Amino acid sequence: MNFKLVVASGNSSKLTEIRQMMPQSFEIVSMKELGFTGDIPETADTFAGNALLKARFISNKFMVNSLADDSGLEVEALSGRPGVYSARFAGPGSSAQQNIDRLMAEMEGVINRKARFVAVLALVLEGQEFLFEGFVNGTIAQKQAGNSGFGYDPVFIPESYSQTFAMLSPDLKNRLSHRRMAIDKLVAFLNQSF
Ligand code: IMP
Repeated sequence: MNFKLVVASGNSSKLTEIRQMMPQSFEIVSMKELGFTGDIPETADTFAGNALLKARFISNKFMVNSLADDSGLEVEALSGRPGVYSARFAGPGSSAQQNIDRLMAEMEGVINRKARFVAVLALVLEGQEFLFEGFVNGTIAQKQAGNSGFGYDPVFIPESYSQTFAMLSPDLKNRLSHRRMAIDKLVAFLNQSF
């Protein structure tokens, strides 16, 4: 029997990546499939805190095992910003393009372009909570490029590559990403627990 996990996220791009990366033996169900399309408050100031808020919310609401991803971009020259505020860098409800525009404006003329993506997965399993963290180092491009992926993918160049995440195939992004590192840790944990 497949092991079922409900993903506490309304972000369809994240959900797609999680589905692509999780082994077939796990059944990934979205909260939308359970009839929930509302927003879950993300009031913590750390990735782990927000991931736990989301996973707990869905686990309590539907009495299920739940997984949440809280992630973002940390830019060294901006002292780690936008960080946990990545989704709303240009203001509440801002689009990915507006966030990129704000980032590119702040990075204009900045020599140090080092950045990293961070993902923290929170798992609520039979009422117990677990965290798994992943990173990918890279740099902020001088100009945005590419159409695949989501969020800041058009401006993030992973270390050892010359193209942005949005120019690489989804398969390659899924092999290199912060989310991949966190999911590998989660899968290793689940495999040894069951
Ligand atoms: P949250 O985890 O829902 O608070 O939002 C995470 C935000 O970080 C997204 O809306 C994106 O702006 C950014 N982000 C996280 N992971 C990625 C990624 O894999 N590619 C591009 N942007 C990402």
